[in-house]
Amino acid sequence: MLIYGDKTMADLVIKNGRIITCKGDGPGPKISEAMDDVGVIENGFVAVSEGRIEAVSTGDGRDYISDKTHVIDAEKRLVMPGLVDSHTHLIHYGSRENELMLKLQGKSYLEILKSGGGILSTVRDTRAATKEMLIKKAKKSLDVMLSYGTTTIEAKSGYGLNFEDEVKCLEVAKDMNHVVDIVSTYMGAHSVPEELKSRPEEYINLMINKVIPYVAENGLCKFIDCFCEEGVFTIDESRKILIAGAKHGLGIKLHADEIEPMGGANLAAEVGAISAEHLLAASDDGLMEMREKGVIAVLLPATSFYLRLGKYARGKEMIKMGIPVAIATDYNPGSSPTESLQGTFVFASMGMGLTPQQVINSVTINAAYAIDKGNQIGSLEKGKMADILIMDAPNENYIVYHFGINHVKTVIKNGRIVINR
Ligand SMILES: [Zn+2]
Repeated sequence: MLIYGDKTMADLVIKNGRIITCKGDGPGPKISEAMDDVGVIENGFVAVSEGRIEAVSTGDGRDYISDKTHVIDAEKRLVMPGLVDSHTHLIHYGSRENELMLKLQGKSYLEILKSGGGILSTVRDTRAATKEMLIKKAKKSLDVMLSYGTTTIEAKSGYGLNFEDEVKCLEVAKDMNHVVDIVSTYMGAHSVPEELKSRPEEYINLMINKVIPYVAENGLCKFIDCFCEEGVFTIDESRKILIAGAKHGLGIKLHADEIEPMGGANLAAEVGAISAEHLLAASDDGLMEMREKGVIAVLLPATSFYLRLGKYARGKEMIKMGIPVAIATDYNPGSSPTESLQGTFVFASMGMGLTPQQVINSVTINAAYAIDKGNQIGSLEKGKMADILIMDAPNENYIVYHFGINHVKTVIKNGRIVINR
């Protein structure tokens, strides 16, 4: 048995690596120029004991190696924090590859929706699925995520859209028991369900009076989220829903200004949200209010690409303004059917103009803060959980430059080697 705190008893040392720590100057997400720095340590090592990082420094880590220590020679490869996917819609059933053809034939989202496709088809499939079916599908996705280096995710509900099925999906997320850690968000306000289409007020009251108190009191989620968008939920409705969540102790996230400039960024600042997400159409004053309140911008460039929107969120400008930026997959069966956070790097760089350093800080330390876990994960520093990747790459630029492949060689989660390729 290894004893935490005893240098000679460290149970894992990764040596001979190009370490990028992604550590900030102090607590809180990185902003402005700090986003340009990934904390490079050349010829460095990381020592792990009892699942936590004990030391990160230059040298070969010999002070932390005993005859019981498992030593990994990184052979000059890149060693970095596990990726944090801060925006996914993990729990759902079915897939919508049939819509790919419709989209390519020029059918609009509304036309697809009218023909029974879109989010409503996923709601139908998710309602019809048993917990076991949902667990099996989610496990498969989490396995893919892990193999691509994602060690923690946020997962939003929102394909049940009634009391029973929203609770079912959140319980599935809670019971997953997968290597990848899940932070749950209740997003019943993803859409008004078909059966209440003409009575949205009734659905909002159901969320506020029944679902939110239940999911909060039963520890089924940490955050609440709402799709504030034209034709979905208005600013006033969103405010009402989010504040109800906050009253029950939930942190606030918001799908804001994705398509229309609704004032979602302003609302996120007003209600003290931890993050505002999408933000393609966010106004200048909305962004300035976010900066004043320190709201994290969670940007989803793979979705912009996949919806063929022809534009991306103003990520580069947000960083310049001093807004903390995170990047996530938005994994969902409609607008971003991918589990690979690595796969979003090319869209963040080529689409939004972020440098590799900015991309990497956006999927590690800042993403960790976007789900309120910045003091536990997201960087390689003493005391944090040992979620570590060894990439088959010589440096941080390479993993953004050489796109569309999986660079992961080894994934270490809580100090345990869970993937080795
Ligand atoms: Zn989303």
